[in-house]
Amino acid sequence: MHFKQVIPICNPADPLTTIDQLASLKQARSTRRLTVPSLTEGGAARFKFLHTCFGGAITENNVGDFMSEYPEFAESARLPKALLHPSATRQLVPCHCCTRTHMRKENSPPPSTKQPAPLEEVHLDLFTYPDDPRYDAFFIDRCTRACWHYVLSQKSDLPAIVQQFVVDVNTLNHPVGSIYYSIETNKKYGIDAKAVNDYLAERKRPQRLRILYTDGAGESASDGFEEFLADLSIQHHMSIPESQHQNGLAEHGGGWRLVNMVRHDLDLSGLGPSFRRFCSSLNAQRMNYLPHSALQGRTPASILYPDRSLPFKYFLPFGCKATVLKGAAVRKANKLDPRGRDGVYIGTASPYGMQGFLVYLYPESGKGYGTVVVATHAKFDLNFFPARRNNKRVADFFATLPARTEERHVIEDLCDEDGILELEIGRASCRERV
Ligand SMILES: [Zn+2]
Repeated sequence: MHFKQVIPICNPADPLTTIDQLASLKQARSTRRLTVPSLTEGGAARFKFLHTCFGGAITENNVGDFMSEYPEFAESARLPKALLHPSATRQLVPCHCCTRTHMRKENSPPPSTKQPAPLEEVHLDLFTYPDDPRYDAFFIDRCTRACWHYVLSQKSDLPAIVQQFVVDVNTLNHPVGSIYYSIETNKKYGIDAKAVNDYLAERKRPQRLRILYTDGAGESASDGFEEFLADLSIQHHMSIPESQHQNGLAEHGGGWRLVNMVRHDLDLSGLGPSFRRFCSSLNAQRMNYLPHSALQGRTPASILYPDRSLPFKYFLPFGCKATVLKGAAVRKANKLDPRGRDGVYIGTASPYGMQGFLVYLYPESGKGYGTVVVATHAKFDLNFFPARRNNKRVADFFATLPARTEERHVIEDLCDEDGILELEIGRASCRERV
């Protein structure tokens, strides 16, 4: 941004100052702009890191709200105060990852103004993917915008997932798509309204969910699903399949945001689709801490779980390098082996009811599958992404190539046949042999 600097052209107290000069001075004063706090390079870098730790969902538009909602965290993370100033955020450069991953055509429908109580009305949406697990079930609460994420291998698992959600949402303080308790039943699709009601009654938990909105794409085909919902006093509202506006909250308000965050993480980290389930789960957790315009800048978690401690230390850039300490027995058996095992950060242990990090460890022999572990202590290299093909060490989170691009090809494409890369920089041109 360029500001015209206002320099006093004369001193009004000076008897030699002319009328014209005075008028010009007044004019300059009246048009002087308020000073905008400037953003230092270090401050901008800390903002970029936070942006990356939230799958790209904390942006210049909501970082001010985020800092006001979590002032202590903002202080400890040394987020620049300038970001509270809306015009200071305009000094930020765009994030390349966001530009790539958020491309879209249509505008989202206007938000509905209806205001139900927390957890009374929930939207469910299924996202289909070509790889196993084939589906992500994404629930979003209309009142608080809190969200829950579950994975399914097949559509016929959906009734059981809805049942799990009903149990989780009514019993847990912070459900994020976890299996703490599951109902065992011999009934078809594993759903049993009586067992759910008994379970909740035993714990003196009222069943709060009143309306479930879905697009009717899979669940309605299952026998007994409607009766199951009716027995739990849940109304089922269906929108016409493919008519996204009727179930717009899950598909646009939540789903669009979630999928963007997943794309942002996968684009940056270079991790493949088999990591999507972890990525979606992490982003559903991150979303509960994002300020929402429908909540006047507050976050779902600050409304629904005001007393819960903040999980920010567990939100790291998805796919960054992690090293965890091996178990005591293994360390003892092979004393000369390295004591740590390498892997990548893929989320938090919160869906498993634990505090810690989820780390994917590479297969030890170099082949086969790796393992996912919960680590309470791990060392992270926060800007090193082992799965990236180019620039594994990301110097600037906002200026990255897609993880899957081979850097060599980019350079080759830019070069002419003699292997000379010409860069025009202003009037001077520089030549570099590659
Ligand atoms: Zn971004």
